[in-house]
Amino acid sequence: MIVNLARGVRAFTSNAFLVDGKRTVIVDAGNEFDVVGAAREHVDDVDALVLTHTHPDHVGNRPDIVAEFDVDVWGYDTSHSDVDHAIDDGGTVQLGDHDYRTLHTPGHKDDHLCFYSETASTLFAGDLVFANGGFGRTDLAEGNRAVLIESVERLQSVVTESLGEMHTGHGPSVQTNPYQDIELAAQAARMG
Ligand SMILES: [Zn+2]
Repeated sequence: MIVNLARGVRAFTSNAFLVDGKRTVIVDAGNEFDVVGAAREHVDDVDALVLTHTHPDHVGNRPDIVAEFDVDVWGYDTSHSDVDHAIDDGGTVQLGDHDYRTLHTPGHKDDHLCFYSETASTLFAGDLVFANGGFGRTDLAEGNRAVLIESVERLQSVVTESLGEMHTGHGPSVQTNPYQDIELAAQAARMG
């Protein structure tokens, strides 16, 4: 089960996905809403918080999740005060019932990660790409359009065209041919 805990929330927040299963994980904490209350509607406990990156709208609720569920926090860069344990490029992280391949995908932010499971046919894309060819901002600190394009192209080379679902840091998840949305994002990023 994958649920967006930030669904319907009107605040400066990212999406925050509860991935239920053998290892129940929240992917991105979100910001400025009751993420603990939202998670409690579905599960009794959470095993870990995993971050796609450390922008404020993705980590603001971190203290609430840590305090309530006594979890550690996983992300790319442990020199960041919000990250307890490192997720390396090319490793794996268990989300719910599946092992996801971890992809370091900078360009929006230096510590950005995507998580992909071919078995689950699921991608967590963070703020790298969004539905309908959207892609992450590159005008913030650490943003770099050329690097973002390289990351999107790498994603294209790793993800199979039959990808079933894509969950993004903002906006709706894509359940119909998300590979096409990634292709559109690559095109748009090259043009823009
Ligand atoms: Zn971001």
